[in-house]
Formats: sequence, C-alpha cells, structure tokens
Amino acid sequence: MSTVAIRPLGTPSNAIANQTNPRTLDETPSVPIVSPMPTWMNKRRVGNQTLLGYSLAGEETVIGLPDLNVCFDVGRAPREIIPIDNMCISHGHMDHAAGVAYYLSQRGFIGAGAGRVIIHRDQAINIQKLMAIWADIEGHPAPGHIEAVLPGEDVKIRRDLLIRPFAVKHAASALGFSVIESRHKLKAEHVGKSGQQIVALKKQGIEIEDWLEVPLVTYCGDTAMAPFLDLPYVRQAEVLLIECTFFDREHLHRARVGNHIHVSDMREILARVESPHVVITHVTRRTDPRRARDIMRDAIDPADRDRVSFLMDRPPRRQFDRPRRADATAGDNA
Ligand SMILES: [Zn+2]
Ligand SMILES: [Zn+2]
Repeated sequence: MSTVAIRPLGTPSNAIANQTNPRTLDETPSVPIVSPMPTWMNKRRVGNQTLLGYSLAGEETVIGLPDLNVCFDVGRAPREIIPIDNMCISHGHMDHAAGVAYYLSQRGFIGAGAGRVIIHRDQAINIQKLMAIWADIEGHPAPGHIEAVLPGEDVKIRRDLLIRPFAVKHAASALGFSVIESRHKLKAEHVGKSGQQIVALKKQGIEIEDWLEVPLVTYCGDTAMAPFLDLPYVRQAEVLLIECTFFDREHLHRARVGNHIHVSDMREILARVESPHVVITHVTRRTDPRRARDIMRDAIDPADRDRVSFLMDRPPRRQFDRPRRADATAGDNA
C-alpha cells in the first residue's frame, strides 16, 4: 500500500504538502454550507449500521457508513457523503467512480481535511492523472490522498478499525472492501481469575488477551460469483452488501457476460455466507423494483427471507426529488 498526495503536473510535491486549502478566503466559507439542493439518497438502519446510499446499475452507486467514517464508491458525489473521510472505490466504471474529483474538491468548502481515496494500485495512477488535469483546469490542486492498495493490504483508519480490500470478479482490478473492527478478549486460560491475578500476570509481561477481528460491513462492489465469498470477513460480516443486478430469466446471459450476479445465484450465496443482514445493491433498471423483490422472494429459501433486504427498500421521503430515470437499457456493462 502506498499513499500519495495529489499534485498537478510540474508542481513539486512539497508545494502541495503546505497547501491545506488552496482556495482564497472569499471562496472558502467559515462555516459549512447547508446546501438547498434536493437529495435522493436513501437512509436505512441495518443491524448496528446506518446506511446512506443510492444504487442502481449503470446510473449510480454510492453507499456511505457515517458511523464508521467510510464510504463505498462515490457515485456522483452527493453532498451527504462529502464529510466522510475514507472513500473506497471498487472499480473504474463511471456509475461508481465519476464523483472522485468533486468529492475531494468539495471537502474544502465544508472545512473538512483532505479526503482519502482507497483504490486498486492499477487505478490509482489514473486518479492521480485525473486530479492533475483538474488542477490544471481549476488553477489549483484539490487536497487529497490516494491509498493505492492490492487485495489483502489493510488500511488502518482508526486505532481499532481497518479496511481490507479483496479481489472480486468484474472489471479489471475490481475490489470489494471489508470494514473490520479489532476487539480484545481475555484469553480462555485466564477467564475466572481475579483482578489481582490478572494484574500480576501483566506485570510478568504475560500476554493475557487475544485480538479478535470482527467484520462489521463488507461491500462486494460489482461482481460475479467468485471465491471471495468464502473469505471469513465476507462470510461473517454483520452486514453484507452484495450486488444482484439481474432478475429476469432472459437476463441471465447479460449477467454472465457482464460479470454480475443473477437472482438465480442468490440461493447458493445465502447458503455460503453467514451474515445476518444481506443487503442487495445495483439492481437493473430493466426490471420493475417491486417485481425484482417478488422474484427475489421466490428465488431464495423461505428461511432466508428475513436476512435479505434491498438498499433502496425504503422510498425516499421526497419522491418528487428523485432524478429522472435515464434510458432503462443503458449501463448493462457498468
Ligand atoms: Zn456498476
Ligand atoms: Zn461495473
């Protein structure tokens, strides 16, 4: 894993390090702006997590976890996710990654520090080029850090919290991400000992605790079925965000060609994973959302119905603010 500050072409890197906010005072508000812009983000409580997101195949996918300070994919960078410090980009398709530059740039306007973009090493260079071009266009760079990672390279975001990328099966260098909490627990052989005994053991330098990894939320990005489903931090995530793009039988071929999941895969997926909360993302616009829910219900084991929900389940409070839907046939390969 490597961290690189973004700099425009031809600018020495130390010039960026000293430049926390390159905007002039006139442009930079002293208090965060509360934008009157309408929103179409959906807010849901799933397990112990708050999900703030929007996901439709080919249109936009962005899923914020404000309590964990993590966002999975940036979509078109809706204002609700701008304050989140850690932005994980699953792959380079536009419906997932288009808003990267805007996300980094907007953070200055709300008084947030430089954002951190966690992305596969092979795509990090492209994001750096993009930001350099924007710096040339705007005349100044947007502060930001690009964490270039490979599968299995953890990014620590808090003393007790890390993000672990893993390989999925979709576009080149596509990743999923797990947010994993470290919890310590008294070793089994010391359970039942008194406080005094524990203190005495500590004084002798004896390790009395084990560290446990607890996968809180796992996001699989866009993907087909693949071996990642057997990773412990995928199988055992408290909340598993997994795509299911296609539902109609005649769309099975589209799913296979585009490396997406079809509803007929869900029965096996639910048997392989233990997650109590499986949240479906990235549903196609080719199938009516209510029909998609009915098809899912019939496709899975009745015992699993309570585990499965859709990210977009609760309609936004202000339906009229919804963006107009684009052509329903667009974005099959996104
Ligand atoms: Zn997509
Ligand atoms: Zn995609």
